[in-house]
Amino acid sequence: MSAFFKLLARNRLALGGLIVMGLVVALALITPLLPLVDPDATNTANRFLPPFSDGALLGTDALGRDLLSRLLWGTRLSLAVGFAAALFAAVAGAAVGIIAGFYGGRTDNIIMRAVDMLMAFPYILLALAIVAALGPGLVNALIAVSVVNIPFFARNIRGITVGLANKEFVDAAKLAGMSNARIITSEILPNVVPVIVIAMSTTIGWMILETAGLSFLGLGSQPPQADLGSMLGEARSALITNPHTSVIPGIMILIIVMSINLLGDGVRDALDPRLKSGALSRPMAATRVDRKHTPAPEARTEGILSLENLRTEFHVKDRIYKAVSGVSLSVKPGECLGVIGESGSGKSVTALSIMGLVASPPGVITGGAARLEGRDMIGARYGDLRTLRGRRVAYIFQDPLATLHPLYKVGDQLVEAISSHRAISKSEGRAKAIELLKSVRIPNAEERVDSYPHEMSGGMRQRVGIAMALANDPDVIIADEPTTALDVTVQAQILSLLDDLRRERGLAIVFITHDFGVVAQLCDRVAVMYAGRIVEEGPTMEILRAPAHPYTARLIACVPELGAGKRKLEAIPGLPPSVDALPAGCAFADRCLKAQPSCKEGEILLEGTGSRAVRCLYPELSLSKETA
Ligand code: SF4
Repeated sequence: MSAFFKLLARNRLALGGLIVMGLVVALALITPLLPLVDPDATNTANRFLPPFSDGALLGTDALGRDLLSRLLWGTRLSLAVGFAAALFAAVAGAAVGIIAGFYGGRTDNIIMRAVDMLMAFPYILLALAIVAALGPGLVNALIAVSVVNIPFFARNIRGITVGLANKEFVDAAKLAGMSNARIITSEILPNVVPVIVIAMSTTIGWMILETAGLSFLGLGSQPPQADLGSMLGEARSALITNPHTSVIPGIMILIIVMSINLLGDGVRDALDPRLKSGALSRPMAATRVDRKHTPAPEARTEGILSLENLRTEFHVKDRIYKAVSGVSLSVKPGECLGVIGESGSGKSVTALSIMGLVASPPGVITGGAARLEGRDMIGARYGDLRTLRGRRVAYIFQDPLATLHPLYKVGDQLVEAISSHRAISKSEGRAKAIELLKSVRIPNAEERVDSYPHEMSGGMRQRVGIAMALANDPDVIIADEPTTALDVTVQAQILSLLDDLRRERGLAIVFITHDFGVVAQLCDRVAVMYAGRIVEEGPTMEILRAPAHPYTARLIACVPELGAGKRKLEAIPGLPPSVDALPAGCAFADRCLKAQPSCKEGEILLEGTGSRAVRCLYPELSLSKETA
């Protein structure tokens, strides 16, 4: 609950709405205690007194009634009716929606057609018809406003319930023998309550307006009882001669509706789970950079892309997750560098940091550099970064179905990738798209260019993803587990395709994976990551033959080998440490069979000779001997 209020407080408009609404509600609550004159007491000798008159702070109306007293009592009534109508509509609408969505079939059909019939009438006409049938009065106006808003809640909640009713946890509840009523109350309802609260918070203001509208027309509160709508209605005839009589209730309606709407938007944002981790601000165009020191210009190296002590953190509430803690890497043209490690080791965050693609908030790059041909891209102007993204450094994502737009043909998406960086005619774009599809060995490229992503297999879609990465002839491709979702035969095809492409085009590839089998097939060098750091680096074959870090050795021991005879595959016990509370010394110590007390003291450096380096006090082999 406190997290919810903290999130709400970070949205200044919502906080303003909350404060104003709090004041209005407090005023309405203490109205009976205030020394106000009777709001219905008439005094025709004091008709239309202007504001700030003696004994009438806001003046009087046509019957000499005190406007301040009527305003406060009227606000109290309008708020009560608005909230009651919203609550009634929400409860009834949600019940209807849950029953329709959960039971489905004929029940759903009958209920939703009835709801559709209600929605077919203009809601204000429907409200007028209901009040006409029931007779004028505040309670009848409340019923009318509630009824016309039930379909809104019913439709919303029914949609959510249909999705929930097919989820595995509901199936599990059914298998556990729960009754439908219990499943609805214990499984469905808790999941739809936030949606109901969000819908309510954004419609209360509207319902107060609707109730005021009915009172304005004389169908709500009846004289002499004051509510904001009836005050406006009574002041209609004096709008020109004594505008204060209508302006005062009008301003109060404006204040209430504005503050409720602002607060409602804030409540919606604070309850949205997608926004919780990233506070209420939307992700920035590029990752936020907050480096204590700007790194000195790099001495010229052979690497086209080099990372130097890169640090990326996630700041979530009062916790700091050090996802990347000082990673240094380099990849040369035509070289494939594998970055390997378990889930959460920081591989993908390292890759996304290079192009400023880590979502901020909560991501922050706190140190280091990522240089493309010596030029630091960390903290580069967004315009510069945009021209580099896709053109010099391209990215292949893990799930092509999620990264390809489902509503556009793959050819159009390839042309779009090119036209983001240079003007291209329609015919030239189509020809180029076909050429790209052929280059990634998609058969019938001339026909496939007009296919939608869903018409292709997983392997085909991943080839389209690779074609898209190649669209602007980049120098570097970052492939983020591009074969994880594919079966082994398609995986082998994709790996061989990437290998051919880098040899033909001299591409530098940074290949992120958790599979040493894949690394062995494609990568010249490999960097092993653990808890946001590189723990071992070197030529792939050397590391595979003789790993130096105990973690690397255990990772390799987990890979089955076809035809290598019987061998026990030993899983690594335990889990990597949480990167918001890294232990002192070696992060792998709790899982390491060679750990000594000294492993848990102080910083352990990445050290080595020649092309290999390891971050370990007691490595599996001495690198100086190995590389000598
Ligand atoms: S430093 Fe110690 S605990 Fe860490 S990997 Fe090496 S031997 Fe194991």
